[in-house]
Amino acid sequence: MSYRVGTGVDFHKLVEGRDLWIGGIKIPHHKGALGHSDADVLLHAICDAMLGAACLGDIGIHFPNTSQAYKDIDSKILLQKTVELIKKEGYALVNIDSTLCLETPIIKPFVMQMQQVISTITGLTTKDVSIKATTTEQMGFVGREEGLMAYATVLMQR
Ligand SMILES: [Zn+2]
Repeated sequence: MSYRVGTGVDFHKLVEGRDLWIGGIKIPHHKGALGHSDADVLLHAICDAMLGAACLGDIGIHFPNTSQAYKDIDSKILLQKTVELIKKEGYALVNIDSTLCLETPIIKPFVMQMQQVISTITGLTTKDVSIKATTTEQMGFVGREEGLMAYATVLMQR
């Protein structure tokens, strides 16, 4: 059995007039994430971590933001497609760890729902899908609520 680790990081701007999708869940907030897709920063970081572990490039190569096919797409579909890509290479996920960085809103009440969505798509148990959140203590672009970011680490086996 061989193990592979991958990391992913993603950023999106926060703007008025957009929905805020994080971890496959729509979160009530006065701002939403700007992007070509639904701009789900957490799912994108997880996709990139999985692609990285399989050495399959990054999310932009597989789902280009110049393609109309991915305009406003639900990132749960991108995660599903990424799971299929790594399965095709013979990999199985072991666990996911992730950290969200944003100033507001408080993410804790939504974490269990996010874990359920991600575990359903990936075939993992919710115990294998860790989602943490932190502010940046009001520093930088996250602190000014201009944007949000997410990091993910994924372990896979073949
Ligand atoms: Zn993204």
